Amino acid sequence: MPALLEGKTALILGIANKWSLAYAIAGAFRREGARLVLTYQGARQKETVEELGRELDAALVRPCDVSLDEELERLAAELQGAGMRLDAVVHSIAFAQREDLTRPFAETSRQGFLLAQDISVYSLVAVARMAAPLMTEGGSITTLSYLGANRVIPNYNVMGVAKAALEAAVRYLASDLGPRGIRVNAISAGPVKTASARAVKDFSTILDFVAQRAPLRRNTDPAEVGDTAVFLASDLGRGVTANVIYVDAGFQAMGL
Ligand code: NAD
Repeated sequence: MPALLEGKTALILGIANKWSLAYAIAGAFRREGARLVLTYQGARQKETVEELGRELDAALVRPCDVSLDEELERLAAELQGAGMRLDAVVHSIAFAQREDLTRPFAETSRQGFLLAQDISVYSLVAVARMAAPLMTEGGSITTLSYLGANRVIPNYNVMGVAKAALEAAVRYLASDLGPRGIRVNAISAGPVKTASARAVKDFSTILDFVAQRAPLRRNTDPAEVGDTAVFLASDLGRGVTANVIYVDAGFQAMGL
C-alpha cells in the first residue's frame, strides 16, 4: 500500500514527551511519509522534543507557546519564509489549573475558567488563522477532544466545558475554512495516561471503568488515535469535516 501522507507537510503542536498523544500522531504521520514540523511549549520541553524530533526525522522543531501571539506569528513567518506549504495541522494542546480538576466544578474561579478556554480552545482558532494562509492546496486541521465535552466525567470539570467549546469551534472553523478546501475535525480519544491526564483527580479510576464497560473491553491505544489522525489528514478523509470522531473503544455509546 502506498504511504498515505507522502508529499504532505504536517505541523504538529503538543508533544511534551513520548507519552503525548501528539507523539503517537507524529509517529503515524512519519510512518506514512509526511514531512514533520513539531513545536514545543517552552524552554523546559526543548531538549526532549528536539530529541523526539530527531528520532522522527522532523524537518523543523520550533518553540510555540500558544498563549503568546508573537510565538505563533514568528512560527508562521518562518514557515512562510521557508516557502513551506502546510497540508495538515494537528492541535493537541490543553491546559487547566490542577485545582480546577480536583474540586467541585461550581468552585471554578473566573481566572481558571478563562485560562482553560484560552489555552484549550482559543488556541485552536489562533492556530487555524495562522496556518490557513499556508494551506494553499487545502488540507486538514485536527484537534483532540474528550467525552467530558458532552457527559459529566468526575473531576474533568472546567476542561469538559472547554472541550464542549472546542467542538463548537471545530464546526465554526470548518464552516469558515471549508470553501478553501480546509477540513477541520476533532478526534475524541478515550482516556490515556499522559501528563495532562494525570492532573485529573482519580484518573486511574476512569481508566479502570472504561476498560470494564467499553464495547471493546479495553482502553484506547495512542496508536489508534495516530491512525485516525492519518485518515483525517490523508485523501481518504477528503469528505470529512466539522466532525467529532470517537476513538475510544466505543465507550461513548454506553449508558450504563
Ligand atoms: P500532554 O500533556 O502530553 O499534551 C498536552 C500538551 O499541551 C503538552 O505538549 C503541553 O506542552 C501543551 N500545552 C499546554 N499549554 C500550552 C501552551 N500554552 N502552549 C503550547 N502548548 C501547550 O497530554 P495529552 O493527553 O497528549 O493531551 C493532548 C490533547 O489530547 C489535549 O487536548 C487533551 O485534552 C486531549 N485528550 C487527552 C486524553 C487523555 O486521556 N490523555 C483524552 C482525550 C483528549
